[in-house]
Amino acid sequence: MVTSKYNDEIKKMKEYAKENNVPIMQEEGISFLTTFIHKNKIKSILEIGTAIGYSAIIMALQDDSIKITSVERDEKRYLEAVKNIKRFNLEDRVTLIFKDALDLKINDNFDLVFLDAAKGQNINFFNSFSKNLNKNGYIITDNMLFHGYVNKKEEDIKNRNLRGLIRKIKQYHEFLKTNNNYDTEFYNIGDGIAVSKSKI
Ligand code: SAH
Ligand code: MG
Repeated sequence: MVTSKYNDEIKKMKEYAKENNVPIMQEEGISFLTTFIHKNKIKSILEIGTAIGYSAIIMALQDDSIKITSVERDEKRYLEAVKNIKRFNLEDRVTLIFKDALDLKINDNFDLVFLDAAKGQNINFFNSFSKNLNKNGYIITDNMLFHGYVNKKEEDIKNRNLRGLIRKIKQYHEFLKTNNNYDTEFYNIGDGIAVSKSKI
């Protein structure tokens, strides 16, 4: 695998994420994503939700020609991501933006938009960044199952905020299913992944 010489550094990032409660992508999810990138010859990626740069780094390591732009609103995480990108010498290929993605206007186009930020905002993110897709591009969304809560009965979710969030994830699921400009497949992999292929 391309990433073998970086195994120690990757392990360190995962440990940092665990210690600091940073919700980085699960093993299964990341391996789905890397397979997808190879299969579909993805060369440019816009990631919403950098955290500490873990998924951006793994994606960038798949091929030297891949370029990534990634946005994060939390300063501590953004700064940690900057350090990690340097550690992997990926400054030329991974551009980090410290900003709330809801305020981000971007002109570039990408083969893939990866939504992995605030789960309640996915309809807004989708509508905003679908403008930045290349022809026949893809939007991939992580955490469609939200730790299994999406399949629980609403009355069994005691926390009111969590109930609201789960409702929004379900609305987003419906939004994807009924969006005629995209074909969306849902996968019960990792924390639940949706792959939406643009028909235009
Ligand atoms: N993709 C990362 C994990 C991202 S975790 C990985 O797998 O390695 C989700 C991140 O999205 C958090 O760090 C959170 O601060 C960020 N986030 C949430 N809402 C955001 C927004 N509106 N704009 C930018 N970043 C956001
Ligand atoms: Mg995620």
